[in-house]
Amino acid sequence: MHTYQAAENALENKVILVTGAGDGIGRVAALTYAKHGATVILLGKTTQKLECVYDEIVAAGYPQPAIVPLDLKGATKQHYRDLAATIEQQFGKLDGLLNNASILGSLGPLEHFCVSTFENIMKVNVTAQAMITKYLFPVMRKSPSASIIFTSSGVGRQGREFWGAYAISKFATEGMMQTWAAEVGKTNIRINCINPGATRTGMRATAYPGEDKDKLKTPEELMPTYLYLMSDDSAEVNGQSLDAQPK
Ligand code: NDP
Repeated sequence: MHTYQAAENALENKVILVTGAGDGIGRVAALTYAKHGATVILLGKTTQKLECVYDEIVAAGYPQPAIVPLDLKGATKQHYRDLAATIEQQFGKLDGLLNNASILGSLGPLEHFCVSTFENIMKVNVTAQAMITKYLFPVMRKSPSASIIFTSSGVGRQGREFWGAYAISKFATEGMMQTWAAEVGKTNIRINCINPGATRTGMRATAYPGEDKDKLKTPEELMPTYLYLMSDDSAEVNGQSLDAQPK
């Protein structure tokens, strides 16, 4: 899918929610989806970052987006219920959900892991994604063709020393995607994962501070796979975990 080319209007009339839309891969995915005609709902922790993405989208003349400032760490059932109700009221349906926001926490041996850091990582990377998916599911049922994308990682497929709770959370993400996908079967909703691979973002710089970032792929270079799974060209694809970069 690395060479997939989406039609200019591939996402026209679609409403797509992107979590972690203020920075990194999520920011570029939101801009890319908007460029291809989608109305994007920008969800993230830092309002100012979301406002910058909002302004970029409006300045480019893409469909007017919406902003949802929400810290996934503290989000409750009621936040998700309200979000679902607002989307239903304003748009009548949701066609796409990119579960992208995650935190890295701190790397180190499992033997010495910090329990509160572990719990925070699980809350943001696993519980919040399970909850947002559960509560938005009914409004996604109203779409003729809806796509849910979870964000995995190489350390969510093969354990690696010192990646601790983050790696465990990404294994959980793969499992969550597979379980959802098996349950939905062949319906109007499909559920898949993307493993971005090493990408030039703040999270990567934190994990590998000494690395030459110019050698890394940019979020923009991953977008063919992000577009493919969000467009109707992948309507038959369910339960897959795709790599956004060639091996
Ligand atoms: P960044 O750290 O650059 O961006 C993460 C985004 O998630 C930010 O917009 C951030 O918002 C948001 N976010 C973090 N915590 C919360 C929270 N509690 N509530 C709401 N939003 C939150 O990460 P990347 O772009 O690198 O990563 C995107 C996804 O790709 C993640 O799932 C990551 O695990 C995965 N990934 C990344 C790789 C890479 O090399 N970059 C490799 C493999 C997987 P704010 O800025 O406001 O804090």
